[in-house]
Amino acid sequence: QTHFLSHSLQAKMSRPVQARRLEGIDKNIWVEFVKLATTYSKVNLGQGFPDFPAPAFLTEAFRRAVSGENHMLHQYTRAFGHPPLVKVLAQLFEKLLGRELDPMTNVMVTVGAYQALFCCFQALVDEGDEVIIIEPFFDCYEPMVKMAGGTPVFVPLRPNPPKDGKLMSSADWQLDPAELASKFSERTKAIVLNSPNNPLGKVFSRGELGLIAELCVKHDVLCISDEVYEWLVYDGKQHIRIASLPGMWDRTVTIGSAGKTFSATGWKVGWVVGPDRLLQHLRTVHQNSVYHCATIAQEAVAQGFQRELTLYGKPESYFVQLPKELQQKRDWLVQSLDGVGMKPIIPEGTYFLVADISQFKSDVPDVPNSDEPYDHRFAKWMIKNKGLAAIPLSAFYSEAHKNNYTNFIRFCFAKEEATLKAANDILQKWKQEKNSS
Ligand code: PMP
Repeated sequence: QTHFLSHSLQAKMSRPVQARRLEGIDKNIWVEFVKLATTYSKVNLGQGFPDFPAPAFLTEAFRRAVSGENHMLHQYTRAFGHPPLVKVLAQLFEKLLGRELDPMTNVMVTVGAYQALFCCFQALVDEGDEVIIIEPFFDCYEPMVKMAGGTPVFVPLRPNPPKDGKLMSSADWQLDPAELASKFSERTKAIVLNSPNNPLGKVFSRGELGLIAELCVKHDVLCISDEVYEWLVYDGKQHIRIASLPGMWDRTVTIGSAGKTFSATGWKVGWVVGPDRLLQHLRTVHQNSVYHCATIAQEAVAQGFQRELTLYGKPESYFVQLPKELQQKRDWLVQSLDGVGMKPIIPEGTYFLVADISQFKSDVPDVPNSDEPYDHRFAKWMIKNKGLAAIPLSAFYSEAHKNNYTNFIRFCFAKEEATLKAANDILQKWKQEKNSS
């Protein structure tokens, strides 16, 4: 009897369990690198999150929300966004976009920018649709397009190194206008824009955004604009919102993140701002998947924005202070890396920095005909042997283009001064060992 039972159970388990939409997207570099970093790294400049505290005004707002008199903050709130949060977001984005917004139809709160992206692809991309993705890209765009049944079409930013021997800047990575235009066709449903860009830190100029906007209008294409690093822009540069360009409001969804804005990535509060004609479909996906994001976190983020709205443009504003502090950290890391010959590409925005490892190749020999891109092997070797974690740049490229960009790794510099000093010590020691060998 027992034998018969186990036999039939086994037979049943041989049936395929994986849905077809997951084919080819089940490998994920973060799983591997986060594990490696936790196991081996002494200094983790890999994954993008601050190791310094979130601002006190925000954590205090959270504490007040948890223990205050309004016990309803422990219950469900409105599905598409806690009313105080959508209201303050609408007020802020009215200023930023220069148009009137209805908090109930033009704003939706999501579980981080991540879920906002997921809603966009599920709601707007159909089987057979093409979605243009600019490389290098935040890696989840590709599997999210595929899960929706769409086909990603990649167009790379092309590096033009300065001729005067100066360090490269993220601004030296540019789209080739003819190449970009060639990717648009009647099958194109949307383009994903990420400015400031993770991993390069590129802040797209008005001219570049104008070119993208023109093509979107010409081909009736939607724009999914991931602007989670909107406040992290350096050297007096300006972040321009593509939704504010002529003809773009009606075809753009703008995505943001309280995690990045207020240095609280674990809270997972994000949002989408856009026209009701697009957001109504995002609401359908959101309603039928997660329903809503933690009420307490939304309440605290609403209070954080309330503060920022009052202090808008003033020196005490967190939106002014955070980039100032991060610019200093960027400059430290640039100096450390440049000092040892790991050439940094100076980012105009975000808290990431990409560096050229060509001069360090002798430490980690190439394995010809390996399936694994060189920068993967290099980053793994560095974590295990030097205790320093970073992410290989090729992880931000499509399979077809990965092998053209294997000489770079990405560092996150949203870290305490002590963490950046410890990274500098590792790099200096490494350089000395190289010199003496
Ligand atoms: N977009 C980009 C470009 C990101 O870098 C990240 C986080 N690394 C996200 C979206 C996701 O943001 P959140 O943590 O708010 O989900």
